[in-house]
Amino acid sequence: MRIARFSEGSDPRFGFVQGDPGSEYIAVLSGDPLFQPARPTGERIDLDSDGLRLLAPIIPRSKVIGVGRNYPAHVAEFDSEIPAQPLLFLKPNTAVIGPDDPIQLPSWSSDVHYEAELAVVISRMTKNVTEESALDHVLGYMVANDVTARDIQNSDDQWTRAKGFDSSCPLGPWITTGIDTEDLGVTARVNGEVRQDARTSDMVFDVPFLISYISEVFTLLPGDVILTGTPAGVGPLNPGDVVECEVEGLGTLRNPVVSDIYEAE
Ligand code: MG
Repeated sequence: MRIARFSEGSDPRFGFVQGDPGSEYIAVLSGDPLFQPARPTGERIDLDSDGLRLLAPIIPRSKVIGVGRNYPAHVAEFDSEIPAQPLLFLKPNTAVIGPDDPIQLPSWSSDVHYEAELAVVISRMTKNVTEESALDHVLGYMVANDVTARDIQNSDDQWTRAKGFDSSCPLGPWITTGIDTEDLGVTARVNGEVRQDARTSDMVFDVPFLISYISEVFTLLPGDVILTGTPAGVGPLNPGDVVECEVEGLGTLRNPVVSDIYEAE
């Protein structure tokens, strides 16, 4: 099942994405399926209809937890070491944007990178779960781009600024439920050119382990999101670029790149 959050110019609504590729439509739901039983309203909207815009499938009320250095080949490209335990960081929910929303390059960085990643959406309150029961706490999965100011990541002791700025967390295009994520392709393309191409089976720490480990640190709430790390091939984004991140079976998350559009007040 694929759960989309969308707008036709007014308040966000939710729906199931159904139909075959090329003729997909949204079966509109009443309310938010994360917090109440999913009830179809009977309304259908073509996915490619004018005025329909997919939004970030979820705005985490609590947190986005990132995992660093979780693919050996990515660790190697920076001469870093594979951590003995998962390396965690946080992104604020103000960093989240949706499909086709612009990634705004901050004026204080000159080296902003894409990072295609598998994202996990938590379904219920989760604390101290075992690896064996971890997947019972997952609503579904989506594609993320862990946009990172690489120069700032290297110059600041903490990664908050480098990975937490506005628009640094594109999520989408929808949440896919009931899929096995052990061995899915993860790719990133910039202006159509493939830059990252790996598989989730390359992860150092897999999804059940990450959920269990993270739940020993934080209480995870419904709608919290875990970014599971990026494979090798990261690189810079420039104004005018279009970056597409894709995880096999979860869709493609596409975002244009622009210069910082906000003037200082
Ligand atoms: Mg990352």
